[in-house]
This record gives sequence, structure tokens and C-alpha cells, in this order.
Amino acid sequence: MPVLLKNATFIDWQTLDFSNRNILAEKNKSEIRFVDDEFCETAGIQVLDCTGKLVTKSFGIGHHHVYSALSRGMGAPKKNPSGFLEILKYIWWTLDKCLNEKMIESSALVTAMECARAGSTFVIDHHASPFAVKGSLNIIAGAFEKVGVSHLLCYEISDRDKMQIAREGLEETEEYLKNHQGLVGLHASFTVGDSTLKAAVDLMKRYNSGIHIHVAEDIYDQEMCIRKYGKRVVKRLSQAGVLDSKKTILAHCLHLDDDEKEIIRTSGCRVVENCESNLNNNVGYFNGKNLGENIMLGTDGMHSDMLQSAKAAFFVGQRNDNINYKSSYQRFRNIHHYINENEFTGDGENNLVVLDYNPPTPVNKDNFLGHFLFGITSNHVNDVISNGKLIVRDRKILTVDEDEILNTSREQAILLWEKMAKAKVYK
Ligand SMILES: [Zn+2]
Repeated sequence: MPVLLKNATFIDWQTLDFSNRNILAEKNKSEIRFVDDEFCETAGIQVLDCTGKLVTKSFGIGHHHVYSALSRGMGAPKKNPSGFLEILKYIWWTLDKCLNEKMIESSALVTAMECARAGSTFVIDHHASPFAVKGSLNIIAGAFEKVGVSHLLCYEISDRDKMQIAREGLEETEEYLKNHQGLVGLHASFTVGDSTLKAAVDLMKRYNSGIHIHVAEDIYDQEMCIRKYGKRVVKRLSQAGVLDSKKTILAHCLHLDDDEKEIIRTSGCRVVENCESNLNNNVGYFNGKNLGENIMLGTDGMHSDMLQSAKAAFFVGQRNDNINYKSSYQRFRNIHHYINENEFTGDGENNLVVLDYNPPTPVNKDNFLGHFLFGITSNHVNDVISNGKLIVRDRKILTVDEDEILNTSREQAILLWEKMAKAKVYK
């Protein structure tokens, strides 16, 4: 059923122009229509009274990890990790090895629900489950579609669990790309040898896709690359053809030299900043200087709240980055340009968020960015329209039974934690 947002204060996400509108959003029509008051009485239309509310384009997440959704509240590993590599080994690589299909489905459902409730209707995910590779992307896609969240998925192929699992990652990717929009995922340069790297780039070219990979998240990635290949990470990836596609996404990009920044800047590929994850892993600080305009924002699996990510990038960036009001908003919104320019589907103008934001000071085109950074939070997300369909109303998900999904995910989390406890490195 088409959705009519009546008497809304509409904010154009690109120009930040404010106008009072009745907005009609329809399925399969990526454009929205502005209609007059008489139209509001038309039968067969779902009407939301948006008097006093702000309506704008919904949000997207540039780099996420469904696989980490059941980690919240789990116990500590047997050894307190010292450094990034041990964080991976003792926490994330222990967790993802224990994931089975049921756990992946629960992880994807709760992630999609949290994305929707925080105003995001498009998610770019980077998935790993080394002992449940086959079919994992289909499970995630199905869960996201149940909730009503659009997606661009990939499996993070890696040699870290030996070549058989790397091959399974390549096969899963190819199977998935035959029928879906997606990317070719690679974990990171330091866990991907030359033959897997070549196979992934071949796959990318064959399916006219892009690579989605972690780049220089920690200095270890660079040290290892120089030691093993005699060159820096971006040079290695670039020579292998990773940056030949404008669909390619490079997550993190913390430890780059000027040459690498230039290669990225002139490639047209996208960089994704994940500020809170970098703080949590203590790997350094992102700085967008000399990286160009193609910076997007992600959560790296920490949470699903892009308004929070934008604030973190802005505040942490005050000391470490060349970020300001305008560029923090541009980074927050760049995902839409990435999706549109690369002709991925699911992010048309019929994706909208209704914000129940009643500010203590005037809000308008000229000062909106001040409200964006210091006022508006995901608590103000009242309703969400995804591809012309109302999926959140009055902060409740309409498409699935939230309580049932959360009950199941809590059960699955316990099973996952018990399994992890039996692993050598976990409590
Ligand atoms: Zn990541």
C-alpha cells in the first residue's frame, strides 16, 4: 500500500532545503511525489500524520558485520588480548568459527531490526562464518528482506583457516553473485595470499562487481605486507587489480602513506571510516586528509546506529581528522552516491525516515547540520519507509515479530557462547 506522509517538514537530503509537503512514497517507484491536500483523502493509501515532524531520506551503513550481533554481553576471552591481531584471534576469529546457520539467521534478523529502528534502510555487510560458509549470504539476504532492509553483501574470503575454506568463500561468493547484487569480500591483505587475491579479483571482473576489504586497519597489516611482499598494502591491492572497479570498498584505511592515499584518491573507490571500532580496538585514528571526497561511514559491527557513527567521526575527528560540519554530513550521506553511481538497487528516494524531533531552538536549512551533530539521535526515529513500504511505525517494526526474534536470538547467543567456551582460547 502506498504511504502518504501528510503535512511533513521535508528536508531534501542533498540541498537541505526545507519545505512543507504531503509526500507519497510507493513501492517500485524510486521517486517520491509531492501531492496536494485533496489527494490525502484517496482510498487505499496508508496515511501518516507528520505534523511537527521532520522527514528526510533514510540512512545507510557503509561497512557492517552481521556476524558480531550475538557478541553483546559475552564473557571475556581466556587471555586478555594484547594488540589487534590477538583481538581477532581470541575474540572475532573464535566467534565466527562457532557460527552455524541458525545463529547467522538470528544475527542477521536482529541486525536488520536494529538498522531499521535507527533509520537505516540499506546495509553493506562483510560476513564471516568459516565453518558455515555455504549458503550464508542467502540466509542473511533472506533475513534482511523479511525485515525490509536492502543490502549489498559479501563473504569475507581469507586464507586464515587454510585453503579449503578460502575456496568455499570463493564458491559462496560466485553462487551468490549469480542471482544477487553483491561484492567480493576479502578479509584483509595480511590473511589473503596471492593466489586467493587473484581468484577474488578474477571473480570481481567476471561479475562486474567490486572488492570489499579491510585496509590498513592496524599497522600490522602494513608491516606484514612489507615483510612478505616487499610493498605496502594499497600498492599490493592496486597491482592485483582490486582498485580497478569503482564498486570497490576499502574499510578503515588508517595507516597509509601519501602514495597510497593518492592511489586511492584517483581510483574512484570508496573508503569507509569506522571511528568507534578504531577506538575500541585501539588501532589508531582515521584522517581523511588527501583521501578525496569518497569517504563513507560504517559501524564495523559495533552497532547499527549511523547517527551515532556520524557524531563519533565528528568529535574524534576534531583532533585527528580534517572534518567539519559539512564533511561529516557528506560522509554520512556518501553511501547514497556510491549506491546510485554503481547502479545498485534498493536506495531510491522512496526510502524515508520520519523524525519526531521537537527542538528547543529553531531548525532550518542554515543550521540543520548543528541539529544533525548535536541534537538528532536515533531516539527521534519514529517511522521508517523502505522502498515505499512502511516498515517501522511509532518505533515498532511492522514486518516481523520483534519479541519472537529477540527471544530466539538470546537462545542462540547462549548456544554460541557455550560453543566458544569449549574453544581453546575462550573462557
Ligand atoms: Zn570490518
